[in-house]
Amino acid sequence: MDTPVMPAERTGPNANAEAFSIRNIGIIGAGQMGNGIAHVAALADYDVLVNDLSSEAFDKAIETISGNMDRQIAKQLISKADKQEALSRIGFADHYSGLGECDLVIEAAVEDEAIKRSIFADLSKHLKSETIIATNTSSISVTRLAAVTDRPDRFIGMHFMNPVPLMELVELIRGIATEDDTFEISRAFVHSLGKTTAVSEDFPAFIVNRILLPMINEAVYTLYEGVGTVESIDKAMRLGANHPMGPLELADFIGLDTCLSVMQVLYEGLADTKYRPCPLLVKYVEAGWLGRKTQRGFYDYRGDEPVPTR
Ligand code: NAD
Repeated sequence: MDTPVMPAERTGPNANAEAFSIRNIGIIGAGQMGNGIAHVAALADYDVLVNDLSSEAFDKAIETISGNMDRQIAKQLISKADKQEALSRIGFADHYSGLGECDLVIEAAVEDEAIKRSIFADLSKHLKSETIIATNTSSISVTRLAAVTDRPDRFIGMHFMNPVPLMELVELIRGIATEDDTFEISRAFVHSLGKTTAVSEDFPAFIVNRILLPMINEAVYTLYEGVGTVESIDKAMRLGANHPMGPLELADFIGLDTCLSVMQVLYEGLADTKYRPCPLLVKYVEAGWLGRKTQRGFYDYRGDEPVPTR
């Protein structure tokens, strides 16, 4: 595969994409990250196939993408025609065999190493030999995930931020075997979406989450120990540290299951008690109170306004 040239900044929804050998994207997992990646890739002119456990998950993703694109239309960032064209580029693949012609497959399924391993072990045999596989994992070793595929050289960490259409950064993480060509093609692809890359070494939780998640975990300890209420902790960090969102609101936004998984990876991967997940975070996850996606976490989102649950 030719190494694409580094593109200039994207100037409109469909600019630059034609410069790359990557044309067809596969996405595994149609949750909040999968639908965001599908959204930005389709707007950048890529054909996108999304795989999830059920077609209902895909239908829900399309509904979310459509609503999010409506907001972009209202802000005059895209036109109605851009939306229609982008939506027509996104299809459902009910099995990995449907992803056989994809040039790049991005895995964005749940943050669970056993599930990701089983996906990669099965997926690679359905793909062309030159297809690049990327994982959107928040924390798990890229090298370890690559090792269960037939192509560790064409495997990379491509860590998008939430919400994907709004956030500029994508972390790129090379596994020990990732080839330069894979890295350059991946970087050019990310730039073609109008996004910026930061390169991280392959250590637990990479850069952003290595710093962000211990802060969120500490906020949960602050709640657990009764230092503050949900409301006072979030207000303190919004107004006192100038954060756009309080840490508990942010945890609900990320998903408490994902937060806990990242803390477990940090705790186990770095063998340091400072990363011990807060028992209260564990309790919320055990209750199935995972944040916005289940309508309840540190806040209850079932009414008109979020109400603190503690
Ligand atoms: P989510 O719970 O919203 O979505 C996960 C999706 O994966 C669900 O639709 C689920 O049905 C699907 N899935 C589960 N097992 C599957 C399988 N075997 N095959 C296909 N689909 C499967 O989670 P999310 O927030 O979108 O997170 C997805 C990934 O992105 C995780 O690795 C997470 O760590 C990472 N990530 C999350 C954030 C965030 O803020 N939420 C940010 C960056 C990266």
